[in-house]
Amino acid sequence: MIPEIEKATSEEIKAFQEDKLKELLKYVNENSPYYRRVFRNYKIHPSDINSIEDLAKLPVTTKEDLQQYNDDFFCVPKSKIIDFVTTSGTLGEPVTVGLTDKDLDRLAYNEAISFACAGVQEEDILQLTTTMDRRFMAGLAYFLGVRKLGAGIIRVGAGIPELQWDSILKFKPTYLIVVPSFLLKLIQYAEANTIDINSSGIKGAICIGESLRNQDFSLNILAKKIKAKWDIELYSTYASTEMSTAFTECSEQQGGHQHPELIIVEILDEDNQPVSDGEEGELVITTLGVEAMPLLRFKTGDIVAGHTDSCNCGRNTLRLGPLVGRKKQMIKYKGTTLYPPAMDNLLNDFTEVKGHVVEIYHNEIGTDEILIKIFAPKASDRLLSKIRDHFRSKLRVSPAIEICSREEIQKLQSSKLGRKPVGVIDKR
Ligand SMILES: [Zn+2]
Repeated sequence: MIPEIEKATSEEIKAFQEDKLKELLKYVNENSPYYRRVFRNYKIHPSDINSIEDLAKLPVTTKEDLQQYNDDFFCVPKSKIIDFVTTSGTLGEPVTVGLTDKDLDRLAYNEAISFACAGVQEEDILQLTTTMDRRFMAGLAYFLGVRKLGAGIIRVGAGIPELQWDSILKFKPTYLIVVPSFLLKLIQYAEANTIDINSSGIKGAICIGESLRNQDFSLNILAKKIKAKWDIELYSTYASTEMSTAFTECSEQQGGHQHPELIIVEILDEDNQPVSDGEEGELVITTLGVEAMPLLRFKTGDIVAGHTDSCNCGRNTLRLGPLVGRKKQMIKYKGTTLYPPAMDNLLNDFTEVKGHVVEIYHNEIGTDEILIKIFAPKASDRLLSKIRDHFRSKLRVSPAIEICSREEIQKLQSSKLGRKPVGVIDKR
């Protein structure tokens, strides 16, 4: 199930997307109160935009725009909305996104071709270890995608290693859909209960929420730790509610492939100018084929690098590298620019650290400070200085570290919607 357009040349893909873009502009001009207003205010007519480059004539859409004018983004009456979801609201107020019947079909298609990209086939059974409710789009997308692909799914939901293993042993799934750090918990449980993980029949994991790779696509510490114990393939995925589209890795595991029929991608610098290939910038997306809430030049706030050279899998679509960080969580610390994921990656190096939260705040003089709160049952001065040295050598910074109890860390990590644990607390 590989759409033909993915193997087309980059010129063909561009022309294809430009046709879709024209349809989209016509559609939002007729149906979106928000974009109609933007076109009027900027004196833009949809027919002024004929190429991907012409997109630069349009202003970008920010998360704040979405929050402030949420209802004006809807192109259909509420009665046409089937599924109501919200963004997680990790950075500000959650935004409501609605999906029509057609949008649910699009979501199913998106996820089916994403699974197919990672090599999932009709014969496969996938075990879903994330939540499907809580106004969460991804869980539903996985279910719909599996159904469309004709594969099987076991909806276990989040947590409970015992139930996960019971299901793995009972139903013999071939893939897990999982937050990578949860794989470590599954390994731990299996080891404590003498379950032979490598004969469990699991071939691979479709991973969400955390990076598996460094920017050069080599495995990061978390992924190495998993692979050292469990010989399975790890596929990164990247998606968001606003995009309603996933970028999933293929067999080559060199970044998540773009689906040209579903999304247009720009990667822009601070001045909203495109960065060169392979450079880091903010991901800006334009959705294609969305009926209820299409977005034009939406700034995701995510810093990534794009790779346009053709992939060994035969696809010529753009690939997105691992998430460098959230733009809003960029930290300027003693002359160094860094993002929380790099710190997570380092902390994962210490098996003694059983949980951590990164706090960012402004000090008296208004510059960024970092406080890392960790739970380590066997904390010692030696461990703390080992962690500090590691930070100094890898990131050239040495943030403050505070030892906390398990309960304190758990409390800090618990989010309002309870989807995934909070790793960063930004008080700036
Ligand atoms: Zn590929």
